[in-house]
Amino acid sequence: MEKRTIPVLGMMCAGCAANVERRMNGIEGVERAAVNLATRTVLVEYDETRVSPEKMKEEIERAGYDLVIEEDRSVAEIENRAYALLRRRVVVSWVFALLVMAISMGWLHIGNRDVANQTMLIIALANIVYCGRQFFVNAWRQLTHASANMDTLVALSTGVSFLFSTFNTFWGERYWEARGMVWDTWFDASVMIITFVLTGRLLENRAKNSTASAIRSLMGLQPKTARVVEGDDVNEVPIATLQRGDIVEVRPGEKIPVDGIVVNEKNIPTENGKQITERHSPTENGELSARPWSLCLQRTERYDYVQARNTDEKSNHTSQFSTLSSQLEQFSTLSSQLDHVSIDESMITGEPVPAVRKAGEKVFAGTIVKQGTLRFKAQAVGKDTLLAGIIRTVQEAQGSKAPVQRVVDKIALIFVPTVVVLSVLTFLLWWGRGGEYMLPRAILSAVNVLVIACPCALGLATPTALMVGIGKAAKKNILIKDATALESIRKMDALVIDKTGTLTIPNEQVDLAHSAELQPEEREQLKPHAREAMEQLRQLGVEVYMMSGDKEEAVAFWAEKAGIGHYRWQVLPQDKEDMVRQLQADGHHVGMTGDGINDTQALAVADVSIAMGKGTDVAMDVAQVTLMGTDLRRIPDAIRLSKQTVGMIHQNLFWAFIYNIICIPLAAGIPFFFGFHWQMTPMWASALMAFSSVSVVLNSLRLKATT
Ligand SMILES: [Mg+2]
Repeated sequence: MEKRTIPVLGMMCAGCAANVERRMNGIEGVERAAVNLATRTVLVEYDETRVSPEKMKEEIERAGYDLVIEEDRSVAEIENRAYALLRRRVVVSWVFALLVMAISMGWLHIGNRDVANQTMLIIALANIVYCGRQFFVNAWRQLTHASANMDTLVALSTGVSFLFSTFNTFWGERYWEARGMVWDTWFDASVMIITFVLTGRLLENRAKNSTASAIRSLMGLQPKTARVVEGDDVNEVPIATLQRGDIVEVRPGEKIPVDGIVVNEKNIPTENGKQITERHSPTENGELSARPWSLCLQRTERYDYVQARNTDEKSNHTSQFSTLSSQLEQFSTLSSQLDHVSIDESMITGEPVPAVRKAGEKVFAGTIVKQGTLRFKAQAVGKDTLLAGIIRTVQEAQGSKAPVQRVVDKIALIFVPTVVVLSVLTFLLWWGRGGEYMLPRAILSAVNVLVIACPCALGLATPTALMVGIGKAAKKNILIKDATALESIRKMDALVIDKTGTLTIPNEQVDLAHSAELQPEEREQLKPHAREAMEQLRQLGVEVYMMSGDKEEAVAFWAEKAGIGHYRWQVLPQDKEDMVRQLQADGHHVGMTGDGINDTQALAVADVSIAMGKGTDVAMDVAQVTLMGTDLRRIPDAIRLSKQTVGMIHQNLFWAFIYNIICIPLAAGIPFFFGFHWQMTPMWASALMAFSSVSVVLNSLRLKATT
């Protein structure tokens, strides 16, 4: 039985995911298949003697999706290529749109009408085939699920207006004029609809979240091999072969491969993997003490100083001397610590000061040995380590978070069938009124309804507002990776916040030897405006909870300083996650702000995740929002901006709808029934359609002007 994770292309919604999963599970030889929509992959277990990945790919392609079975192609690469293609299509479509508009406004009226129409036909056809093909493919896919989305309406209105215009180009004169009717073409509408909607898609695509990179960086924290001590021998083995109870050796600068318990009381000096006996000192130079060196240096410097001929030389000596003695000072501190094993556990605790670990104490996979050579007994290996737990949570949280369904798609479910029904009703109304004599008007009105109701304005309403919102946030040093995040920040009513690196700036000068006796103010300081930021959050209705891996006194001290009422100390990554989940269970929309790997689990499960720009890459990868700089007031700013943006989206959608409500009866020719001898011409239908799109864009740009 073979097990493999294969990237899937073309899945857009939960419906697609269910469809792919059902088809995969229906293939002969596939034991089990589970689709993860967030990472756009399918985990498949199959009998390789009965089915091959090629066969699965073939089967999935038949449903309109694709499997990436070549190992060397990454999803990111494919997505980048798809984005580049989309951008190219938008540019080409704009060129087509401008050409067609120029022809329909100029050439059509002054030149040869037939030639002008035939030219537009070629351009419109090229536009559909090259730029708009995907809408037709998707509409067909939706139709096979007996469903409809915005793509359906785009395909329908461009398709129908193209076909009808083609008919008119060749037979318009013979058919309509014989019946005493004027006729026209809608090639411009057919082109412009695709141009506008594609532009909206491009804007939306620019703000897409990539989830896979976070998991990859977390996995990168785990070393591939470990050094196992067996008697006098130290052997390097693949990490997968490590067993519980193995004695593992880790040297300075290396990552600890699995969780375990320290066995050496002091640093074990080693050379080429062999233990050196106690008479050897930790460094090559023997018992190296800084003091005699310093005295020696002082003597020579003094001598040089006295010998110096002029003041320039003297001051030069003085500065050289002070540099050298400060280096010696540092060296002396270092050498005094050399017989300890100290470990950078910031990954787990978020605290930058390395911790001294003695025999019997726990060490964790992914943490880094700073000083000394560590020996420990492996306790939790493979999927049982704390790091594996973090990776699993991040993976699961991201996998289970279905992409938020776009408001437009929800509307489309009702809107599209309604428009189609209205269009058909329009046709029947006219036809019923005058039979064959009214047929031209019936068709004209039905097509007008489709063109005018086309969702260009709806398709632009959300992305343009989001684009302006995200741009505005970036100007305020708030980087928003995921458009849905901007929509969701405004709902936040509880914020779990990390301390070190997030609320406070650790003092990196503090050395390990003295860290235990320091007062909180000496190790670190509160970020400027932190208290004000917390106050603003409270005013916005957000309750703040501080969770820190630090000691009780420090946590209580800083909570008091920042004005935070709820706090917990010495928490593990799991506790932060539990806190987020607990608040979610209580019905809160929970935000999480942190900077470290120890925060990633909580960041992954939170409704709104905010990383600090100076933090670890993994935290930034997981989080939807990254704050550049140190000003925490950007969090309340982000909430306000989210409120403004969503307000703008609703406004845009409202106007796009009002517009449809007014224009559809006009397009259907309803005034005609009330004695007005006026009917909308196709040119007006497409001009109005374009106008509504432009007005939505202009409305979104207003957001830029607000503070
Ligand atoms: Mg931290």
